[in-house]
Amino acid sequence: MNVLICNVGSTSLKYKLFDMDHGEHVLASGGAERVGTDKSIFNHRNNISSTAWRNDIPMPTHREAISEMLEALLQCAVSSLDEISCVGFKVVHGGPVTGTQYLTEDVLRTMESFNSVAPAHNPPYIAAVRQFRELMPDTPLIGSFETAFHSGMSPEASLYSIPLEISRKYNIRRYGFHGASHEYMTDWVSETMGRSDLRIISCHLGGSGSLAAVRNGVSIDTTMGMSLQCGVLHNNRIGDIDPYVIFYLNEKCGMDLPDIKQMLQTESGLYGLSGGISNDLRDIETAAEQGNRDAETALNAYAYTVKKYIGSYAAALNGVDAIVFGGGIGQNSSTIRRLALDGLDFMGIALDESKNLAALAGEDISAERSHTRIFVVETNEELVVARKAMQLLLRNSTHR
Ligand code: ADP
Repeated sequence: MNVLICNVGSTSLKYKLFDMDHGEHVLASGGAERVGTDKSIFNHRNNISSTAWRNDIPMPTHREAISEMLEALLQCAVSSLDEISCVGFKVVHGGPVTGTQYLTEDVLRTMESFNSVAPAHNPPYIAAVRQFRELMPDTPLIGSFETAFHSGMSPEASLYSIPLEISRKYNIRRYGFHGASHEYMTDWVSETMGRSDLRIISCHLGGSGSLAAVRNGVSIDTTMGMSLQCGVLHNNRIGDIDPYVIFYLNEKCGMDLPDIKQMLQTESGLYGLSGGISNDLRDIETAAEQGNRDAETALNAYAYTVKKYIGSYAAALNGVDAIVFGGGIGQNSSTIRRLALDGLDFMGIALDESKNLAALAGEDISAERSHTRIFVVETNEELVVARKAMQLLLRNSTHR
């Protein structure tokens, strides 16, 4: 069974075609960048590792990117689109609609009703899924919601303390995101440690980041909430903020709500705190090394938010057997890992700094004296989505 997984961003499309019957092997992968312009870039890599690039292609919408991808797949990976059993998407927010679902018009409409809390994620997915439906009318389109992994959270972890009838009426609660990544990383730890009865803190730190407290494979708490705009700092999006700062900006500082929203989702996080140096942690690390004080503060603040959540999740889990770092920052920044775990010896969490500095994905970087094992992992969200999409298809074919 071949499963095509597509990640849709507001200006990008990335894809991987998995052969699920032969070692979950990637047959082809690629993507389009700068979608929405007439100078888009498209790349395609097949399973013998030859990569083809095309520059300056007009792609006013995702539709052109999808067509380009299908053409490339037909040239080198499949002889007909019928050989693609389904297309899977790592969809973000469907509120009460979660799990793995066929992306029917009903599901898309429910997603639309959560656009205002996932403005960078839901609209491009919804538009792209409709374009896929036009271009591949006979292929099942399946969404695996990022919220699903956290759907077992208890009411005390997931409810906000606003009046209960308002929460219930409008489905307002903590949902959590990055589910596919947290699931992949914590399953990897369980397999590596040969145990399923584990208390794990999973740190997915990328352009946006979240931590999850996972007991026996179930997420009991996570740092993102109703939206993806809380918890740890993100690249240019706000993390936790006192909601009254928003009222103050509106009522006292003359900013209107759309401007505040724009500021919180594009000019905040690492970018805002560093005084606009960059939204990329690599640039912030370089500027901090060169003595820029704002960059140093941004770096320290990022690690501090991670550290605070590690402490609180160790309490929520009544101890911690393993901490796992993944995502672009979690996997690659030894500085963030060092700062976030600094001084936690008293809790039995100790990093081996030389292992940390040289860490490759898949390695244990804890010191010998550490009671908690600390891992660096290369996450694989697409594979998790491909497995779930295949399971849904197989379940349906056996029920028919
Ligand atoms: P996304 O959340 O968009 O999927 P990633 O998980 O790929 O993104 O993470 C992207 C971020 O990872 C970049 O913005 C950058 O800040 C960070 N990053 C990538 N490589 C490194 C590195 N070698 N050192 C520090 N940070 C890195």
